[in-house]
Amino acid sequence: MLDQETIAAALAELDQPAYRTRQVYEAVTRGLVTSFDDITTLPRDLRRSLAERLSPLTLTDVETRAVPDGTARKTLFATTDGHPVEAVLMQVSGRATVCVSTQVGCAVGCAFCASGRLGLRRDLRAEEIVDQVLHFARVLRADGRGRHVTNVVFMGMGEPFHAYDQTLRACRLLNDPHGFGLAARAISVSTAGVVPGIDRFAAESLQLNLAVSLHAATDDLRDELVPLNRTYPLGAVFSACERYVRRTRRKVLFEYVVLRGVNDTPAQAAALAQRLRRPLYHLNLIAYNETGGRFSRPAPGEVEGLRRRLEKAGVSVTVRTSPGGEIEAACGQLALRRDAGC
Ligand code: SF4
Repeated sequence: MLDQETIAAALAELDQPAYRTRQVYEAVTRGLVTSFDDITTLPRDLRRSLAERLSPLTLTDVETRAVPDGTARKTLFATTDGHPVEAVLMQVSGRATVCVSTQVGCAVGCAFCASGRLGLRRDLRAEEIVDQVLHFARVLRADGRGRHVTNVVFMGMGEPFHAYDQTLRACRLLNDPHGFGLAARAISVSTAGVVPGIDRFAAESLQLNLAVSLHAATDDLRDELVPLNRTYPLGAVFSACERYVRRTRRKVLFEYVVLRGVNDTPAQAAALAQRLRRPLYHLNLIAYNETGGRFSRPAPGEVEGLRRRLEKAGVSVTVRTSPGGEIEAACGQLALRRDAGC
């Protein structure tokens, strides 16, 4: 993906008129071209000169796995410097949602998360984040059924607020009405609870959605499951969420990966209800997808039982089905089986 400034700089070197910038930018973000050769409205010489200076792509797709019913598709990409990146397209209930990664690996190290086991290698650039979305936009277009990307969630590999500037830049590029044009309300950014990030996010002018990966309702358990909790304990995270709601009047979505016998106990449910019984708070329960670690997946009836108990206690709560478990494309499963590009 190329932003307008980069395109304008290259075109200025080539003494091209200003309108060419818009032409190339629209071809990349709306026309979804992967090569300047495909921009047939440009003179052939100019296409060649641009290709000598720039590439519309920052990622190469290496491998794709899809579930047979087409509800989930995971692609492994390689960055130009050889790092592996994964993203997922989920097609459920008429929506086509792309889950993007913001970092190669992750420094947070959640106990149940496959990505966290990698450690952090580097942040992704905004262009690399947006390219994950453009890739799936091309896949949908090639499908020929008139579908397009309806939502983007920043819930793949990485902690988006540890890569705050590039994450927000990616949101703005996706939202740009002259470019990809995705509504800000269709974009959700998920944090494990980086308090300064939540405060910064509350002050942004875009109407983006905030999600918080909670996974435990008491500090002792959350310290163990989400080590970031030792830096930003639950009290601090919820104070930041309150400030966010006061300032934006927008909902906060809490994500809770249910680990059988660990965070679905009556005590955790009671603590959860205590914290989440608030207007504009909504909880999503997601059954853990086993990745070979020490945790196990609850039975569907157990997740439903937890949902009912929380609802009875006054919490706005749903169970989110997470398609793609069998291709390791579900929550907490974006980890790389091998290094791409090596
Ligand atoms: S769940 Fe999210 S924040 Fe936690 S280690 Fe995995 S990618 Fe990082």
